[in-house]
Amino acid sequence: MVYGALEAGGTKMVCAIGDENGRIKDQVSIPTKTPEDTIPAIIEYFKDKNISALGIACFGPIDVDRASDEFGHILKTPKTPWIGYDIVGVMKEALGVPVGFDTDVNGSLLGEVTWGAAKGLTDALYITIGTGVGGGILSGGNLVHGMLHPELGHMKLIRHEADTFVGRCPFHKNCLEGLACGPAIEERWGKSAKELVDNDMVWEMESFYIAQALTNIILTISPKKIILGGGVMHQEQLFPLVRKKVLENLNGYLSTKELDDIDNYIVPAGLNDDQGIMGCIKLAIDASGLE
Ligand code: ADP
Ligand code: ZN
Repeated sequence: MVYGALEAGGTKMVCAIGDENGRIKDQVSIPTKTPEDTIPAIIEYFKDKNISALGIACFGPIDVDRASDEFGHILKTPKTPWIGYDIVGVMKEALGVPVGFDTDVNGSLLGEVTWGAAKGLTDALYITIGTGVGGGILSGGNLVHGMLHPELGHMKLIRHEADTFVGRCPFHKNCLEGLACGPAIEERWGKSAKELVDNDMVWEMESFYIAQALTNIILTISPKKIILGGGVMHQEQLFPLVRKKVLENLNGYLSTKELDDIDNYIVPAGLNDDQGIMGCIKLAIDASGLE
C-alpha cells in the first residue's frame, strides 16, 4: 500500500508518500501561501500516486472532532487566508481517499510513538521549540484533543529574574512560546540562535523556561517519556540543563524509575526530523481503517 502524508506548516507544506513501515519513498516541499496558490500544487503531487489514504498534520488551531460540523477546518489563525479553510474536505474530494487529520504536534508525537523515541508507549509528550512552541499529548493510548486540542505553548510562566525581554506572544507576554521560541531567543539577544552557542546565559534562560513548563506538565499529565523537538532543540547543550532544572523544580517530590533515569526520560526526537511526516503516514494508515 502507498500512503500519502501532508505536513501542513505555516511556512511550508511537506508532501510525501510512504509505506506501512513509515518508510518515506518520495518527498517534496511546497511554500505555504494562500489556499488558492498552495492547494492545487498539493493535489497535483498526490493525484497520480495511487495513495490509499492521506494523513494530514496541520498547524492550528484546527477542528479535529470528527463529530463536529467544522471537522477538518482550520479555525481562527493568524495566517488569515486559511481561516475557515476545509482542508480535509477539499483533499478528500480531490483525491477520493480517506483522510486522517490531527495537529502538527500530535502528528510528530504519533511518529515518535509508532517508530521513534517513544515506541510502544501509551503515555508520552512531544514538544517542539521552533518558530513557535507546541505540544502533543498521548494519554492512555489516545492522542489528547479535549475541548479543542492542547495549546501547551501558551502556558504562563514565571520570568527568569535576569530576563528583560518583553516576550513575543501578542496574547500573553509571559507564555512559554513568547519567552522561549526561536524568534524570542533571537529578538532578546539580537543574534541568530546559532551564533549564541557560546553564551551560557542564553541557554540558562532557555532551559529555565523549558524546565518550568515540563515540570508543570509532568505534574499534570504524568507522561512516561518526554520528547523535545524543533529547531532550537538542535542545541544539544540544552538537554542536560533542562533535565537538571526539572529535578530541581520537583525537589524530590516524585520518585519514579523514569525520573531516576532522566537521561532516557527527557530525550531528543528519534527520527531525524522526519517525525512529523512519518506521523502523517501513520495518520493515513489509521484513517484507511476508519472509512
Ligand atoms: P518550524 O517551527 O517553523 O516548523 P523549526 O522547528 O526548524 O521550524 O524552527 C525554526 C526556528 O528554530 C528558527 O526560527 C530558529 O529560531 C530556530 N533554530 C533553527 N535551527 C536552530 C539551531 N540549529 N539552533 C538553535 N535554534 C535554531
Ligand atoms: Zn501566548
